[in-house]
Amino acid sequence: MTRSSTPPWVITSRPADLITVDETWCAVTVPEDWIVLMEEALAGESGPAFHEPGLRNLTWIVPIPALEWPDAEAAGVSVVRPGDLLLVPHPDGTFVGPQRFRWLVPPSAPLTPEPRLREAIETITGPLDRAGVPGPIRVCCACDAPTRDAVLVDVYDSMSGTPRAWYACAACCERWQHGRRPRHLRAVPGTSREDRAEESGRDYPLIIPPRGIRPWRQAD
Ligand SMILES: [Zn+2]
Repeated sequence: MTRSSTPPWVITSRPADLITVDETWCAVTVPEDWIVLMEEALAGESGPAFHEPGLRNLTWIVPIPALEWPDAEAAGVSVVRPGDLLLVPHPDGTFVGPQRFRWLVPPSAPLTPEPRLREAIETITGPLDRAGVPGPIRVCCACDAPTRDAVLVDVYDSMSGTPRAWYACAACCERWQHGRRPRHLRAVPGTSREDRAEESGRDYPLIIPPRGIRPWRQAD
């Protein structure tokens, strides 16, 4: 059996392309605000993954066994299956409006082992076979805790994609409302991503919640 040297998700002819998932791989998507938790859970073992700023999700390319995952769509975990279309960015990335559509881990890297990705996701959702029932999981913008008991604290209406929403866990929200240990539950002057990027001279991903500044390793 000959092995193609270029995986189908490595596209070179356009800035981004819709490709059809085939029988040898699939993709798993989770909400973009899980990025800090996923980064920690994968602990440097992530294979190819990209951020789609229009859909506000993160996508991992994985080997086919992920097809057997239970349905956890309600929790935010989706499997893109053979025959489905997947929009992928060029290895150098591109833009969706003003936002970068890019690989977080280069597309040519070895794939994340499917059990490893599932284990990482389950650190956020709990067991996947029970994760789909109680509804969406949000990540607290103040403490980074995943929670099903979230309070919406801010929304940014993007002209180029889905509105961006920030949530706080019940504990942080209560602390905030009672004036204890005030934390920034919304972007405030001097703490915005742009301000921090300007201070540090670094180009942070556009998907970091207002507080957690842990840039994903650069894809290059
Ligand atoms: Zn919190």
